[in-house]
Amino acid sequence: MRRISIFGATGSVGEQTVELIRRAGGTNAYQIVALTGGRNVARLAEIAAELRPEIAVCADPSGLGDLRDRLTGTGIAVAAGPQAIAEAADRPADWVMSAIVGAAGLVPGLRALAQGATLALANKESLVTAGRLLMAEAQRHNARVLPVDSEHSAIFQALAGEDIAAVERIILTASGGALRDWPLERLAGATVKDALAHPNWAMGQRITIDSASMFNKALEVIETREFFGVRPDQIEVILHPESLIHSMVGFRDGAIMAHMGAPDMRHSIGYALNWPERAELPVARLDLAQIGSLTFRAPDPNRFPALRLAREVMARRGLSGAAFNAAKEVALDHFLAGRLGFMAMAGVVEDTLSAVSADLGPENVIMSLADVLAMDHLARVRAGESAARRAKGT
Ligand code: NDP
Repeated sequence: MRRISIFGATGSVGEQTVELIRRAGGTNAYQIVALTGGRNVARLAEIAAELRPEIAVCADPSGLGDLRDRLTGTGIAVAAGPQAIAEAADRPADWVMSAIVGAAGLVPGLRALAQGATLALANKESLVTAGRLLMAEAQRHNARVLPVDSEHSAIFQALAGEDIAAVERIILTASGGALRDWPLERLAGATVKDALAHPNWAMGQRITIDSASMFNKALEVIETREFFGVRPDQIEVILHPESLIHSMVGFRDGAIMAHMGAPDMRHSIGYALNWPERAELPVARLDLAQIGSLTFRAPDPNRFPALRLAREVMARRGLSGAAFNAAKEVALDHFLAGRLGFMAMAGVVEDTLSAVSADLGPENVIMSLADVLAMDHLARVRAGESAARRAKGT
């Protein structure tokens, strides 16, 4: 039986992974090794009681007693804290879902690759913070990374059987998020509630807001470069409000392969789960006659400074991805807490990149995990300082 672990099982991607595993027969079809959550101990215990993993781990150390109480008598081991999550990734598994949100997903992903597991990667932050390290680790251990982000799954599928050298460009589609039709002058006043009203996708809170600010697309541009190894100038972004084309690959003969489907993460999760086969999935089938038309437009750089910053990160490389992601996470925390305006998030990231510019290391070297984590820490401090200044209007 295939041995499977799910990191971030209590989140949006994690729950959809659990659903697909349940539909495929649950514990009759898979042996579950490790399940991890963050703070939602009650939900983690419920999923564990159903899927009977060897171990259930919550990131929040204060949740350990509760998790133990809830799983007493089940024979499931329990643990808590980031170190315990990393150790859970050392347990031999064939397939590991990386669906923790944020840079916290990096270490468990690296550890899963080190034991040779196939890593289904939803955690795009791993590739942004340490893309070359992650891909080199996969190569070193002869382990495979399968993209789960819908755009990257689409590109991966469009590239099946193709030579990457024949690729001219990769076109990432973007829904534009909740605020795409707001006038530019209103964006600065957008609230958390406004930014959470995504028109097409039901996702976790953080990625939904990143979608409205286009920081999500900025992460994906960097993710594309790191995963597929193309040059930054080969990556384009286009707004496609219907979210039915999940991305496209343009080849040197002028052909474009587009991947279409309903906006439903269970497609790309299920594709990674069943790869290299295709299994039946519970996603809506498109009725093209009813859809009638698809629209596209170029993103306005004034609305979406995150896209420009992603280009700067790709040009600079070194530790700039780690700094960019950490600063973005801090800026988002401040926005969620009501301390920072919507458009000021990009300002915090820009301030941080310039504050750490002397510490970004050489451009073309694979950075060590220690260097990446040190930059993650430094950038969080600098971003916090910038957010505090901006909140005071200084
Ligand atoms: P959610 O916020 O819904 O879930 C995040 C998961 O990570 C939860 O299980 C949460 O636990 C856990 N978690 C949070 N913080 C920590 C931490 N510090 N250490 C360990 N675990 C933690 O996120 P999503 O499912 O939306 O996103 C997960 C990843 O997938 C992100 O990288 C996102 O960018 C990517 N992604 C998501 C898509 C989507 O449709 N949702 C689409 C494409 C990519 P708890 O809830 O128990 O606190």
